[in-house]
Amino acid sequence: MIAAHEALERLKAGNRRFASDLPRLHTFTDHARRRELAAGQEPFAIILGCADSRVPAEIVFDQGLGDLFVIRVAGNIVAPSQVGSVEFAAERSGTRLVVVLGHSNCGAILATLEELERPPAKQSRNLRSIVDRIRPSVEPLLASGLGSQPEALVRAAVRANIRVSVNHLRHGSEVLEQLIQQDGLRVVGAEYSLDSGIVDFFDGT
Ligand SMILES: [Zn+2]
Repeated sequence: MIAAHEALERLKAGNRRFASDLPRLHTFTDHARRRELAAGQEPFAIILGCADSRVPAEIVFDQGLGDLFVIRVAGNIVAPSQVGSVEFAAERSGTRLVVVLGHSNCGAILATLEELERPPAKQSRNLRSIVDRIRPSVEPLLASGLGSQPEALVRAAVRANIRVSVNHLRHGSEVLEQLIQQDGLRVVGAEYSLDSGIVDFFDGT
């Protein structure tokens, strides 16, 4: 089992390689590694990330097959199936680090802000289920007057939404709470910059 602090260092080192264009360790075509993994997995980190095509976790952290247990959903929101997926990996594979990975200019956040300004006449129930989970992170920011500074508002909303997902994972599951209290599981929040390629671990590290 790899401890949370060591897992975090691996992710930071991988992101440094990616962002500074250093030689990558992983090419994703290692057949020997694929065969070795067929018998079982022991991913060293769980990533709950946004589905955005520009933020593939394995690539931005320069990791290979079997390294990361990745859950991706628009807006990196936490619904029961995401909690269940995290529980699965933490319990069955012994993974001790969970990272909620949001990113700058997230489309799901922008869609939520748009909706708060101009509620659409018609919206798919399914899309609404995502927006509804992001809205509580964003509403207090609008109430605080950030609405007049659109860029600052989006930045703050991205971080608030990551924090909400982190807290939900820390406190919304008995299984995870127990692993945190007794077995060294850590849940941290991070933001990926689309411009720089750098992941900023800002919550819980
Ligand atoms: Zn996104």
